[in-house]
Amino acid sequence: MSFIDVHTHINMLEISADEALRLAAENNVKNMITIGTCPDDLPLVLSIAQKYYPTVACSLGIHPHEAALFSPEMADFIRKNAPLKEVVAIGETGLDYYYNNAPNDVQIAAFRAQLELAEELNLPVEIHTRDAEPDTMQILKDFKGRAHGLLHCFTGTWEMAKVGLDNGWDISISGVVTFKKAEELREVVKQVPIDRIHVETDAPFLAPIPHRGKKNQPAFVTHTAQLVAELKGVELPDLQKQLRANAQRLFPKLPIQ
Ligand SMILES: [Zn+2]
Ligand SMILES: [Zn+2]
Repeated sequence: MSFIDVHTHINMLEISADEALRLAAENNVKNMITIGTCPDDLPLVLSIAQKYYPTVACSLGIHPHEAALFSPEMADFIRKNAPLKEVVAIGETGLDYYYNNAPNDVQIAAFRAQLELAEELNLPVEIHTRDAEPDTMQILKDFKGRAHGLLHCFTGTWEMAKVGLDNGWDISISGVVTFKKAEELREVVKQVPIDRIHVETDAPFLAPIPHRGKKNQPAFVTHTAQLVAELKGVELPDLQKQLRANAQRLFPKLPIQ
């Protein structure tokens, strides 16, 4: 029974893609979605997915940090490539008012435009949201029934999780859940229905305990899955089976191995 890393950045890892995939395979991580963030990395992300498919699929989008670079040309690039079998989602897009690398209104405009694009292309969306809960919640409500996907690296409140779930969004848990101070997040995980949960690394960021402080890689998703199984009170193989079913439902194009 294999693991899936629903959000990773293969082009940003400290180790080579070959090495990352070898270590992932050793740990039974057999599917991953590598995520685009900016105009410069989208062609690279796409080429990595084409080279390593079916183990690696990809998501195309512009990160809130780079929201000022979202343009009609970027939308056209995504539109043109979305029919490829390797492209299984749109994103990451969303709002990040913690770093605030782009003005809020620019982030909101790029986020809304990418949700509209996802609706047009009928693909799920990987959302990044940090310190922006009220605006994110409003936009999710505005797009209810039109866009869906997951809230990646979820670290928000139960209220945010609930609004996401009620408006058609799944919750993806990263290595942050293993951190000592993440008590509130562990409580959220206990409350999220097990058929709406996913796990991810967001590698090279946020390595889970016992690798905290090192650069993250897809193989480490196993530690996050183990803790989520404990929090949900299920055996790991049962959680794996559930996570595979969840991923297949949310990402119909993902070639689960
Ligand atoms: Zn993110
Ligand atoms: Zn990311």
